[in-house]
Amino acid sequence: MDRKTHKLMTNRTLHRRANVARQYLQRNEGGRGLQSAEETIRTEEHGLSDYIKNDEKGYNRLLKRLTKTRSKSEYQNRQKETKEKDWKEKALHGQYAKIADKTDIKRNCKWIKNGYMKKETEGLITAAQDQALPTRWRKVKIEKQSGTSLCRVYNERDETTFHILSKCSKIAQTEYKRRHDKLAQLVHWNLCKRCRLQHERNWYDHTAEKGLENENVKIFQPDIIVKDKGNEPYLDNRHSNARGCKNRRKGEEYRKISEHCRDISRLWMTSTNVVAVIVGALGTVVRLEEF
Ligand SMILES: [Zn+2]
Repeated sequence: MDRKTHKLMTNRTLHRRANVARQYLQRNEGGRGLQSAEETIRTEEHGLSDYIKNDEKGYNRLLKRLTKTRSKSEYQNRQKETKEKDWKEKALHGQYAKIADKTDIKRNCKWIKNGYMKKETEGLITAAQDQALPTRWRKVKIEKQSGTSLCRVYNERDETTFHILSKCSKIAQTEYKRRHDKLAQLVHWNLCKRCRLQHERNWYDHTAEKGLENENVKIFQPDIIVKDKGNEPYLDNRHSNARGCKNRRKGEEYRKISEHCRDISRLWMTSTNVVAVIVGALGTVVRLEEF
């Protein structure tokens, strides 16, 4: 039955090379939340055995002595551990799981748990996280096909999922910039909403106007700066790749932001507060203190 379900899903919602065990993990743990038919039956069997073991009356006392199976919760925990182990210990599939674990797995999986994306999109993103997409590097190095493993856009580096997502210099000024601007648009829309400034109903229809102002705040563009009557926070938005910023880049970014902050403090004669918005291309959320 599980095999049939899996076959049916690979038509549209599940990438055929994505991790199978991960599909059966709960959504807030990074899985897709599928119920395994076999596991459901086994869980119920263990539940029934729990009932027999805990019932002190009549024949059940005798049965209790005879039944020596694991409890339902023990069985469920063991199944969960096995699935997590399968996902995390695979060389390719496990890379994202390890990164997500190092940050905040619950926050990183919020988008899967909320389930507002189409199942096809969800399948594509989880496949990219599992590095299951048919990149040239995968075809040559993993599937041992002939040809080159170099990036098809610029031929400069290996065409891995991470390279396409955030390291290809050829698309930095187009796709990466567009992605950055989209994120800035969302941050700007949320700020306008919170500060009761003019904004569209949906964030994706919002166009960030240069210099919006009301009696309480003023929001500047393109670096998003919020000037408040009480406090004067400076808000900057960045994004990094799924592996997180490299230390060298982190230092550079930090230096640039600090300099910018000092300039603003000097110009407006006020204190400033930086809010760094860091989101990985595959949805990894980094805690501020990790930056
Ligand atoms: Zn490239």
